[in-house]
Amino acid sequence: MSTYISQLHANILDRIEAAAKRSGRTAADICLTAVSKQQPDNRIKDMLAITHSGGQTVFGENKVQEAQGRWGAKEQGSFADARANIQLRMIGPLQTNKAVAACELFDVIETLDREKLAKALVKAMDKTGRQPELFVQVNTGEEPQKAGVAPHDLDGFIKTLRTIYGLHPVGLMCIPPAGTLISGQAPGPHFALLAKLAARNGIQSLSMGMSGDFEIAIEFGATHIRVGSALFGARD
Ligand SMILES: *Cc1c(COP(=O)(O)O)cnc(C)c1O
Repeated sequence: MSTYISQLHANILDRIEAAAKRSGRTAADICLTAVSKQQPDNRIKDMLAITHSGGQTVFGENKVQEAQGRWGAKEQGSFADARANIQLRMIGPLQTNKAVAACELFDVIETLDREKLAKALVKAMDKTGRQPELFVQVNTGEEPQKAGVAPHDLDGFIKTLRTIYGLHPVGLMCIPPAGTLISGQAPGPHFALLAKLAARNGIQSLSMGMSGDFEIAIEFGATHIRVGSALFGARD
């Protein structure tokens, strides 16, 4: 059955493949996170039909409470039944008082960005017995309002995570300044910086690229892209 969502999904897969090819990579090297935040249930249901026929298995959310309402078992999330079939990634800012809930719900947390949160996550992992994979968010544009470690603080932060907290992040994540495409200031340099920071810290995964710039991110080495509106349609 072809739905609007399945057409959007097929289109994104085609674009991922083409961007991968252009940069001498293959689509299999790139994980597509379907960002389901603020999307209506009917669209998510259509995406889960793709999941059930062996397609899209990775989903991303940016708010703990909203994610619980969608995927959480205890809270009777609207799609609790599908939770076991997907990987769930936290891509939004995380407050320390939500660390336990985040460890319970998510398989991956992409937004570790400060020592206080590292400390809370260590405690939460201990308490829940769950150990989500970790990415460190980097504020590549050094925007004051944006979460993430400043590039010049990253090496020290990674070292602190490894030596003091026993945490070993597997990836870095960034969100380039908004409107960089519109303003003609390309996101490419932000993606290149993230790749450089990862390489010098021995980190393999790069979560970068959204609806407006995922092809550029792939050409700069993204291993994980986070696509919402281009995959589900515009949010409410
Ligand atoms: C919302 C969001 C996305 C997806 O944005 P689109 O432009 O809709 O693809 C990706 N990453 C993060 C961190 C987000 O909050």
